Amino acid sequence: MRLGGGRESSNIEDRRGRGVPIGVAGGGIGTIVLVVLALLFGVDPRVLLQGGDETGQMQSPTARYAPPPEGQDGMRRFVAQVLATTEDAWGAVFQANGRSYQPPRLVLFNGAVQSACGTASSAVGPFYCPGDQQVYIDLAFFRDMERKLGAPGDFAQAYVIAHEVAHHVQTELGITQRVDQLRARSSREEGNALSVRVELQADCFAGVWANRAQRARNILERGDIEEGLNAAAAVGDDRLQRRAQGHVVPESFTHGSSAQRARWFRRGLETGDIRQCDTFGTERL
Ligand SMILES: [Zn+2]
Repeated sequence: MRLGGGRESSNIEDRRGRGVPIGVAGGGIGTIVLVVLALLFGVDPRVLLQGGDETGQMQSPTARYAPPPEGQDGMRRFVAQVLATTEDAWGAVFQANGRSYQPPRLVLFNGAVQSACGTASSAVGPFYCPGDQQVYIDLAFFRDMERKLGAPGDFAQAYVIAHEVAHHVQTELGITQRVDQLRARSSREEGNALSVRVELQADCFAGVWANRAQRARNILERGDIEEGLNAAAAVGDDRLQRRAQGHVVPESFTHGSSAQRARWFRRGLETGDIRQCDTFGTERL
């Protein structure tokens, strides 16, 4: 990816090195505090029970570390630059439709973090919380993507950020709220099927971001598209389930299969048009 001297977003909050002390008390006070916090904040089951956004089945023990000193923090800079490209891309899309885009904030954390959706550990993977309109990322996830999921590369990382921002776009567009209403009167299986459509749309929106950022900033290098498609496939439910439990249970899918995720990402990428991302109005996912 070419980000060069591109703008860094200021919508970043760095909570690394001062996380919630999950596990520190070894199941004692820490656990009790955690449960109480989860009750107070109202746990979003999508975040905490199913195991977060992209890697429900992954267990990723995360080393605790302090952030590097200011100025030497290449990863933070990378995230801030990618976030800036999402702000530019979605700002333009919204403006073209006569609306204004209110960008999300992105919280960097390590270990565990408190959000309006509850207290989450890194094991849940990156997530977006509609309640506080913030994206949460432990940068250790990118290392896990490379080592455990076989999805290396900067564009793969950018895809993850763009996917989480896409959930914010869905909230800005009112899609999240409508789906929540539907979900409230759905069976578990119907709810899962709705989740799949939400997630595949977020993949398509991530593709729209890539298309727009490419046209505006020429960000793509040789191999980047393959890297993004590979990452989308790597977090497919079928592949994650096979890895975790040795078999696949399609009714329990919440994000879509590898093939579906790659297909919808590609669709957004090739068209750059959010109208092509109507995963709710199609029979064929
Ligand atoms: Zn998602």
